[in-house]
Amino acid sequence: MKINIDDSSGFCWGVVRTVDIVEDTLKNNGSDNVYVLGQIIHNPREIERLEKVGMKTINHDRLENLSGDKTKVIVRAHGEPPTTFKMAAELGIELINATCPLVTGLQKKVRNFHKRGFDVVIYGKPDHAEIVGLRGVINDDCIVVQSAAEAMERISFSNRIVLLSQTTKDKKTLYEIKDAIEKEVSKRYGSEKLKDMFQFRDTLCKEVWGREEILIDFARSHDIILFVAGKKSSNGKSLYRLCRKFNKRTYFVEHTAEIEINWFDGIEKVGITGATSTPLWYLESVREEIKKRLEVD
Ligand code: SF4
Repeated sequence: MKINIDDSSGFCWGVVRTVDIVEDTLKNNGSDNVYVLGQIIHNPREIERLEKVGMKTINHDRLENLSGDKTKVIVRAHGEPPTTFKMAAELGIELINATCPLVTGLQKKVRNFHKRGFDVVIYGKPDHAEIVGLRGVINDDCIVVQSAAEAMERISFSNRIVLLSQTTKDKKTLYEIKDAIEKEVSKRYGSEKLKDMFQFRDTLCKEVWGREEILIDFARSHDIILFVAGKKSSNGKSLYRLCRKFNKRTYFVEHTAEIEINWFDGIEKVGITGATSTPLWYLESVREEIKKRLEVD
């Protein structure tokens, strides 16, 4: 039996950057007064590892009760709304901004389109941390949708529209929403006015969707796929669905304890891959666990 780890898997550069900031901050300041606001990344195994070196996670309620000029709070890759930065400044707490630069760029785009008077439509999950940050940037004056049908129901089409996306959402759905809006705008204003009335920005992260072709090949060329990710990982869910489309024997694994021995009956080639927040070291652990359970080299 061959067990291969996907070459394109492991942390994206945004997550590498965030984890580096956490480790450096802990190294330089000790762990007593250093906190991370919300789950640093959506991967329980990496969180366990970081907790062992002193990382402490807090929620927003706890933030309100912190104080002291030695206190440092790290903002995770998903970003935060401006109200969080304001609150920290009022409390005299230093915020260390580990927001992924792509998310910061997306926040700027949202702010600019809003300033120019566009109706801002965002494809995303309303309570996902990245979307909470984006909504906060424009005081929640936007429409967050999860499907083309919802977009058609909620957009008034009485103003210029811009469509953007949470960085890690599903590509197919984003383009379905774009097509539906385009069609409706053309119908109401005529196709010659389409560009004036509708702007589209594909703000999906290339670290996720740039892997699409490689992942499809990987899924097709193995008998089974173990897709390893945190259950809350948004890009994990999207990429898992993609793998499953091209290999029906794709299993979602958050912890090695979930691996079932009967998945491997009659199998010759096992593929292991994961989300952009799944560390390579854990993919290696999954490989070792399979070898141990099946007693193969
Ligand atoms: S997936 Fe993309 S947007 Fe998210 S942290 Fe990684 S590089 Fe940044």
